[in-house]
Parts: sequence; structure tokens; C-alpha cells
Amino acid sequence: MTDRSHTRALVVGAGGLGCPVLLGLAEAGVGRIRLVDDDRVELSNLQRQVLYGVSDVGRLKVEASRDRLERRFPDLSLEVEATRLDATNVSRVLDGVDVVIDATDDPQARFTINDQAVAQGVPAVLGGVIRFEGVIMGVQPGKGPCFRCLFEGPPEPGEVMTCAGAGVLGAMAGLVGHLQVQRALGLLGDRPDEAAGYITTVDGLRGTTRDVPVPAREGCTACAQRTASSFHFMTPSTQENSMSVAIKIPTSLRRFVGGNDQIEVAGQNVREALDGLEAAHPGIKAKICDAQGNLRRFINVYADQEDIRFLDNLETPLGEGAELQIVPAIAGG
Ligand SMILES: [Zn+2]
Repeated sequence: MTDRSHTRALVVGAGGLGCPVLLGLAEAGVGRIRLVDDDRVELSNLQRQVLYGVSDVGRLKVEASRDRLERRFPDLSLEVEATRLDATNVSRVLDGVDVVIDATDDPQARFTINDQAVAQGVPAVLGGVIRFEGVIMGVQPGKGPCFRCLFEGPPEPGEVMTCAGAGVLGAMAGLVGHLQVQRALGLLGDRPDEAAGYITTVDGLRGTTRDVPVPAREGCTACAQRTASSFHFMTPSTQENSMSVAIKIPTSLRRFVGGNDQIEVAGQNVREALDGLEAAHPGIKAKICDAQGNLRRFINVYADQEDIRFLDNLETPLGEGAELQIVPAIAGG
């Protein structure tokens, strides 16, 4: 196992997402965790906030979670602060950490974390969960899109449901929280590019996830604060030319794409779309194309229901919103 005893993680929020995030980080061997939250444990929290018991009701969550985590992970160095993260303290709270995980249910705080993480160059994992839906996004500051590239700003109060308002199942918070931990470990690992640049939506009812690429947005106020030579915004003209294509993945290839049945990529023709698929999910293209890059004989690819062999093969152009279907021949007899 990777030695993460010196890894420093910041967790913002010790509620429904924060509990599984804290457990997941500690179980992964992350040695130093800073936890920020100003809430107290309420009876209604207990069904999903698995670090707390009835005797914790009324206590500060940071104190109850510290007691619980220190018993189970005696080597963990846990630094807690009973503060509500906001614009006045975020830079101090983020100082010196290797990764920050947003486990709040406050959209405003999510943007505050995103913006300051980008400004300070701290990799971040944003996340949210509501009823049976979850979203997760990993951000590599200066190297790719951030959460504000995706959404220009937080919604107006009352425009979105919060956990408190809409309710969230413990199982759903656990699922999304642990996915956030995986994403954070990915950002800290050998191939951080695979953990950032897209948003993952989680469908809790079907048990499926879906990755949607997020282009870096020119004019993003968070990214504008940070300029790095390695970071290139897509120009508006490139964005217009780069068509969004949905690729339907057959069951036999889903192990390459995290079990998803559909992957969104950019590309102006079938070849570019398959290259985009390979870039996001290495290894899959070899199952579709041979060493010369031609379509394998036992694979059919349909562009908007048409077999590309009867069109321009891999050069078949794709329009915005096109759908590619990969259909392997089923061996049988
Ligand atoms: Zn941005």
C-alpha cells in the first residue's frame, strides 16, 4: 500500500459526506487530516452521519468525530476547527494541505473552496448529494477546468435543495463520500489527469455513474486568477468545432470505463471520438481497433444508427449530440 502517512488532507464539513470521507481517508492511511465544521450533532443526523451516536447529540461535530476517529486510528493526526468556512478564513484553512475535499451541503461554500483551491494551487474534490443523485468533480489547479468553469456561480438561496431541505439517504452519502476519497487519492497519485477534468454524476437508484468532460471555460473568474503555461483554455472557435458525442459502451467493454454504459467525448469524426475515449479510458481502443488503427472485424460501430462501414468508416463526420454505438459480435453457435 502507498505510504500516505505524510499526506495532509483538508475536509470541509463533518456531516453526511464528511463522515464517510473522514473514514475513507483514514482507512486509506492518510496521516494528517484537518477538519473544519461549526455544526453540532442533531438526532436527525444520526441515520446518515455514521461517526456519531446518541450520546453525541448536542456536541460539536468536530469534537465527536475526533473522539471517534482517534479511537479507531490512533496514528492519525487530526486537527479540528469549529469554524464555518467562508471567504475570510478559507486561505488560512487551505494553507499547507495537499488536497481539499468539499463535504459541505452549502453551494456557496463549494465555490469558496473551489476558487481558493485554484488560487492556492491545492487539488480539490468537490461533491454534492441530494436524494438519489450525487456529483463529484476533481480539480487540478492550473492544469484543467474547475468547478466554476462548469457553473459560473452558486445558485440563489432556495434555488437548489440542500440535504436539510430534501433529505439524503445514508447509503447515498456513503457512496458519494467514498467516491470523493477515491478521486482525492487519484489526484495525489501517479496519474492525476485521470482524476480531474470531468464531472461524475451518480445515479443512486440505478447504481450507475456517468463521466461528462468539462471544458476549461474562458472567462472563468477562478481560473483567471491563476495562469500557468500548461493550461490552455479552449478558444470559442475550438469549442464550436469540437462536437460532443455520446458513445454507448457494450457490457463487455464497460470494465474499461468504470462500468458506465455511456461516455461523453469530444470529436468531429469517429476517429477523434474513439481517440477521446481512449484518452479518458486507456486500453479500450485496442478492443475496438487493431494495431493499424482500423476497426476490428468483429466490432460494428454505428453513428446515429448507421453502420460506419457504409459511411466514411473512421472518418465519418459527427455532428453535435451524435451518438456512437459500439456493438461487438456475440460469439456463439
Ligand atoms: Zn475555472
